[in-house]
Amino acid sequence: MLEKLKEIEKDGLKALQSVQNETELVAWRVAHLGRNSPLMQIFGKLGALSMQERPAVGHAANFTKTVLEGVLLEKEKAIKAAALAKSLEEESLDVTLPGRGVHLGRLHPSTQQLRRVLDILAEMGFQVYTSREVETDEMNFQLLNFPPHHPARDMQDTFFVEAGERGDNPLLLRTQTSPGQIRAMRDASRAALNPDNPPPIRIALPGMCFRYEQITARSEIQFNQVEGLVVGENITFADLKGTLIDFARRMFGQNVRTRFRASYFPFTEPSAEMDVECFVCGGKGCQVCKNSGWLEILGCGMVHPVVLENGGYDPARYSGFAWGMGPERQLMLRYKIDDIRSFWANDLRFLEQF
Ligand SMILES: [Zn+2]
Repeated sequence: MLEKLKEIEKDGLKALQSVQNETELVAWRVAHLGRNSPLMQIFGKLGALSMQERPAVGHAANFTKTVLEGVLLEKEKAIKAAALAKSLEEESLDVTLPGRGVHLGRLHPSTQQLRRVLDILAEMGFQVYTSREVETDEMNFQLLNFPPHHPARDMQDTFFVEAGERGDNPLLLRTQTSPGQIRAMRDASRAALNPDNPPPIRIALPGMCFRYEQITARSEIQFNQVEGLVVGENITFADLKGTLIDFARRMFGQNVRTRFRASYFPFTEPSAEMDVECFVCGGKGCQVCKNSGWLEILGCGMVHPVVLENGGYDPARYSGFAWGMGPERQLMLRYKIDDIRSFWANDLRFLEQF
């Protein structure tokens, strides 16, 4: 029987030499170490041996088994290594080639400009106040000194969401960020410990506005606005000019020239529009500024007493100023974009330029 074991070992080692791949290896394992292999049959017969024979045969059988298992393990490793080397060679992976880039998204140009504006205002001490996009007629118009049928409403064609039984106070998509002025003033005055002594306000109101316009290269039904509001005691038109000129310098450069022109808005009195020197031609006159040398960037004015009162601020004691501007308009001027529809057309050829 010891002779037989030596033979089994020899056969096994010999057979293993011709094994080339994993399938053959599995077959070899079954043939030489499997349940019905000659080796395992010897283990099965151990019990039938005499007490003298059994230890020597058992020891020798275990030794053979250890030898065969050992070479099996080595062969397995060798086969795997060979397979890996083969696949590397065949697929000719060049690890020095640059990988395929991951397509990174980016912020929309309007968002970028909005953040640029808010960063500057934050440096100047303004807090951001966000307000809702669906508003009541009362908030969007009436409390801002646009009574029903006021002709100034014609400048802001409106999307009505729900009229029905709401009478003179239908729901609508806000046409301006200004209703946030009323909400911010009311929040501040109602939160004040003494309602007669509300705190000063210095906020920026960013967000999307909607108007029922015919969509053309110059007008869209949605656009962003950033509005500023300052309310306090002894606030004058000089504060308005100082703040907005400082803003223009931070936005367009320290040497930018500015000018104010008289204008009209129902919720400010007096009202003005502010121009900056055309940054395309430096004031000499070009297509962008229509040869005027100036670009209009915002509308502004002293907060109307009626609006202050509606916000819970006594106009006899408090005064303030407000202004509104459009990030998309600033981008159009800066990058000579001639079609406002590009902003919401979702065309990557346009968006990826920013
Ligand atoms: Zn110009």
